[in-house]
Amino acid sequence: MKKLGQQNCASCGEMKRCRHRDFSPHAWAVLLHWEEISTPVVGQPLCNGCYTELRDLLIDRAEDIETVISNGLAEKEQSLIEEALAGRAPIIDQPDVQMTL
Ligand SMILES: [Zn+2]
Repeated sequence: MKKLGQQNCASCGEMKRCRHRDFSPHAWAVLLHWEEISTPVVGQPLCNGCYTELRDLLIDRAEDIETVISNGLAEKEQSLIEEALAGRAPIIDQPDVQMTL
């Protein structure tokens, strides 16, 4: 039975309490570049488990992010992100972590 406030997580597909997450476009691009997520997940609500996993990954690999961005390795992903986010505004809802990318 579907509980109030629950929906399918865009990442793992499980029926959970999901929220929009405030990852920056750079963060989404790097996650795509690493193949941690697929394009349709960008800007979509995620469950707490997936969010924590992705956020921890971004924190753990902060140096890799800089390398990817500064070397332009995620350019293709960044244009995909821009397209994805442009069609799904607003994406920011109750941020609980500020990414400074
Ligand atoms: Zn999930």
